[in-house]
Amino acid sequence: MEFGFSEEQKKLMAEMREFCINELPEDYDPEYSGRFQEAETQAFWKQFHQKGVEKGWPTAGWPTKYGGLGFSAMEQAAVSSEMAYWGARWGGIMAMTLVAPTVLTSGTEEQKEKWIPPIARGEITAFECFTEPDAGSDEANVQLRAVPDGDEYVLNGQKTFISGGTKPDWLYTLCKTADVTPKHRGLSIFMVPGDAPGVSYRPLPTMGGSQQNEIFYDNVRVPKENLLGELNRGFYLAMTTFEFERAAGGGLGARRSMEKIMEYARQEKRNGKPLHKDPKARDMLARMAIHKHLEFLFGWYTAWHRSQREKLGPQHYNSGTLWHRLWQTFDGEQFGRVFGMYTQLRQKSKYAKYHGRPGRTWEYMHAIHAAGSPEIRRVVIADRGLGLPRIPRQFNVQINEALRQG
Ligand SMILES: Cc1cc2nc3c(=O)[nH]c(=O)nc-3n(C[C@H](O)[C@H](O)[C@H](O)COP(=O)(O)OP(=O)(O)OC[C@H]3O[C@@H](n4cnc5c(N)ncnc54)[C@H](O)[C@@H]3O)c2cc1C
Repeated sequence: MEFGFSEEQKKLMAEMREFCINELPEDYDPEYSGRFQEAETQAFWKQFHQKGVEKGWPTAGWPTKYGGLGFSAMEQAAVSSEMAYWGARWGGIMAMTLVAPTVLTSGTEEQKEKWIPPIARGEITAFECFTEPDAGSDEANVQLRAVPDGDEYVLNGQKTFISGGTKPDWLYTLCKTADVTPKHRGLSIFMVPGDAPGVSYRPLPTMGGSQQNEIFYDNVRVPKENLLGELNRGFYLAMTTFEFERAAGGGLGARRSMEKIMEYARQEKRNGKPLHKDPKARDMLARMAIHKHLEFLFGWYTAWHRSQREKLGPQHYNSGTLWHRLWQTFDGEQFGRVFGMYTQLRQKSKYAKYHGRPGRTWEYMHAIHAAGSPEIRRVVIADRGLGLPRIPRQFNVQINEALRQG
């Protein structure tokens, strides 16, 4: 089956392409310099964002009432797919893609008025602070406490594995606010200033080369109005955020990635011949091309599902990013086997070839756990997407106990 784009989508994509070509530096290499952790890169995306604001691009998919253009999910995907191809992103990426959609879906009117305009202008950076040492897959087990005290809440506890580079403006923090059974009904989300007294950060480097954070909250005081949504409904907000995170266009940038891998395979030589003429490499590249094409189609499938959210419910389109991650891992491993030891070098190594792009394929493997491990995503798809019987509670309790005991 061949999928095509409507005239309207083609027009949008052409406009976005032109915008990216005009605004990105000529030598810009998305896979080499696009990491959002670095302060310099963040500053660049902030000004890129502000140029986009003039056209309404960053918030195109938001309702017009909140400064958006009211684009449908498919129109939004047309914009995102072109951005993904060029490796472009808006400023304050996590605030834009995670906090804002959640506030728009589940926040009160006052919260929308407070948070949406500055996020739309790209002025706010935020970290998504959910995971704790004993609350990853078992998200409901969050132990970071928020206790009311007058007009404020006092927060104590720890988060771990949190993504993001320079210190954020806000910490979008999942807290425990009640001791109840089931425990997910006792959680709430607070917006905590990133520089609030009592907040401290410790870098947590991963084997994949990314820099995660451990964040400690020591008697951190936040005003009551920083509670997002309703008290003790934070778990549902967190699941809404995951929904946006897991559906975030995974795969729409796959075409560019394949083109770059082919560029590498053509330039690199083995036994005096270009790599892409090596039978083993060709086999691997063909497999990778199939995966990348499927990733691309999944990106559009995800967008279509999103456009049908009212009818189909939220959880179906999880599958796109799940496959994106699984293929990235599989391909990364194969890539390393076929293309040799250079693929093990990090991007910044002086010995790395071709800007370390081959290594990027391998490095990406570490990201498979972000926003939920593949096992958990399968559980979500089976349970909420396909309506299969739920896993008996006792089974999950046993898994969690085993994980806690190490
Ligand atoms: C690169 C990266 C970026 C991240 N960024 C963020 C971030 O910005 N914010 C944030 O809050 N968190 C972030 N995380 C944390 C991430 O969400 C967790 O790592 C993930 O949810 C898994 O939790 P865990 O690491 O505690 O593993 P565990 O929950 O301890 O799981 C360990 C293993 O057991 C399996 N398992 C657990 N329970 C079950 C079950 N019931 N059934 C079957 N299998 C099960 C899991 O699949 C996994 O393989 C990030 C992680 C990574 C690696």
